[in-house]
Amino acid sequence: MDSFDFIVIGSGSGGAAVARRLSDAGAEVAVVEAGADPAGDPRIADPAQWFGLQQGDWDWGHSYRPSDRLLGRAVPIPRGRALGGSSATNAMMWYRGTPADYARWDAVAPGWGWEDCLPAFRACEDWAGGATPLRGAGGPLKISRAAWGHPLTRAMIQGGISMGLPLVSDPNGPAPECVGLANFNIADGRRWTSADGYLRGAALTLLTETRALELLFTGDRATGLRVAHAGAERGLTARKGLILAAGALETPRLLMLSGIGPEAELARLGLSCRLRAEGVGQNLQDHPLLRALNFRARHPLGPVVGNGGGTLTIWKSDPALPQADLLAFPIQGRSAVPTLADHYDLSGDLFAIGLGVMRSHSRGWLRLTGPGPDAPLEIEPNLLADPRDLAALLRGVEFLQAMALTPAFADLFAGFAAPDARLDRAGLETFVRRACSTFFHCCGTARMGADADAVCSPRLAVNGAHGLWIADASVIPEIPACHTHAPVTMIGERAATFILEDA
Ligand SMILES: Cc1cc2nc3c(=O)[nH]c(=O)nc-3n(C[C@H](O)[C@H](O)[C@H](O)COP(=O)(O)OP(=O)(O)OC[C@H]3O[C@@H](n4cnc5c(N)ncnc54)[C@H](O)[C@@H]3O)c2cc1C
Repeated sequence: MDSFDFIVIGSGSGGAAVARRLSDAGAEVAVVEAGADPAGDPRIADPAQWFGLQQGDWDWGHSYRPSDRLLGRAVPIPRGRALGGSSATNAMMWYRGTPADYARWDAVAPGWGWEDCLPAFRACEDWAGGATPLRGAGGPLKISRAAWGHPLTRAMIQGGISMGLPLVSDPNGPAPECVGLANFNIADGRRWTSADGYLRGAALTLLTETRALELLFTGDRATGLRVAHAGAERGLTARKGLILAAGALETPRLLMLSGIGPEAELARLGLSCRLRAEGVGQNLQDHPLLRALNFRARHPLGPVVGNGGGTLTIWKSDPALPQADLLAFPIQGRSAVPTLADHYDLSGDLFAIGLGVMRSHSRGWLRLTGPGPDAPLEIEPNLLADPRDLAALLRGVEFLQAMALTPAFADLFAGFAAPDARLDRAGLETFVRRACSTFFHCCGTARMGADADAVCSPRLAVNGAHGLWIADASVIPEIPACHTHAPVTMIGERAATFILEDA
């Protein structure tokens, strides 16, 4: 069967949610997914193995452009290529952000304030703590609280308290600055993906190992798709519409391959322009992440628990800021980008802390290097281009080094490893540039908004086309100060509501 009411391209955080909700409403839905079903691969199921999945069988293998701001380094940017998308390969953290994040969305795309989004956040959650006015229970995505078992977990919590942060029982609760046990998409010790929650057993058609090559149109209406599967190409028909949920890197690629994008870019590539959309591939945002501050440990830390982390520390780099901009998490062992590992002695027992700027300001772009689906993407996030992002990281390193010296870490801390001392401003800046990587939260490349430059409307319909919506991280107008799986799942939930009303 090659004809459906709706075809959803991509089965990740956004795609799985929108597909399931459309099918729950009685629509005939197909999900087209380039990756295979990873069920049964123990590396996916085991939360401790997520880090090793990058650039492997379940990853698209993308990389950011080398940057002088990062001392000439190119940072890999992993994206899941599997049923479940990046929810099958990510670090399983579930953090939704705060009302301040969605107030910024609402300013650009009316209807996306916190109160508008909260029902969809609650609808997707099966929170182990039970339903409250802020949290949902009984929804598709299982969410558990990290365990106390690890010595680093205790040190991070006590250390945060020593630095003046309130301890909260749930970082997804009302306190925007805090230290607390993280929420995880882990159930019974196993990763819980969007495919597990939304797709398995649902009344829809899953076309895995099937790559969308081009969106097909009748006039200005999206009516189908050209796909490749097992070396052969074929067409699929969408009677009511197409939903792009291929993620922040592949959605703009598919739009451009289908003639929707910046006019000059399409001309440069020799692609004919079906619909001028100057915003496609622009507004790329990500959170810079230092990987990582490493510390010498007094003793071996023992086996890895959970995803290897377990807590969130959320605070302001400057008390005058309106919103917390920094987030740190523990790493139960050594963690270093290659340049850091080359520069410092990281032998022996170590623990580490990852530090991200969550209220980041730098913006970049991506473009195609050729007119075919396999030409590498050129991706420039401009990490650290905005001086506020660099300044926040410098203060964050100072804060975490001071925290490691508090009595909370007395049983654990045996000295600084990377950096190997407390540093002056110049030394700190070099450390930040050497350690800076990605928090894996790329977004914004086909943003929504009420303005003429937006690629899609606040109801997620592509401007200038009919029967075409976007429901993934591409539509985010401004990166929220949190991880992105939860916000994108919420986008998928809300997309289904809009599509059912507007199709
Ligand atoms: C290593 C890693 C760690 C992360 N850690 C966390 C974390 O702990 N917490 C958190 O909240 N967020 C985390 N993230 C980010 C988060 O997972 C993503 O922001 C989110 O999953 C993006 O959802 P999406 O729907 O936009 O895209 P994805 O979930 O990436 O889904 C896109 C899907 O589309 C498919 N696709 C792409 N192109 C095509 C095509 N042409 N045809 C058919 N299918 C196609 C892809 O294979 C993929 O399955 C992490 C991401 C990574 C990669």
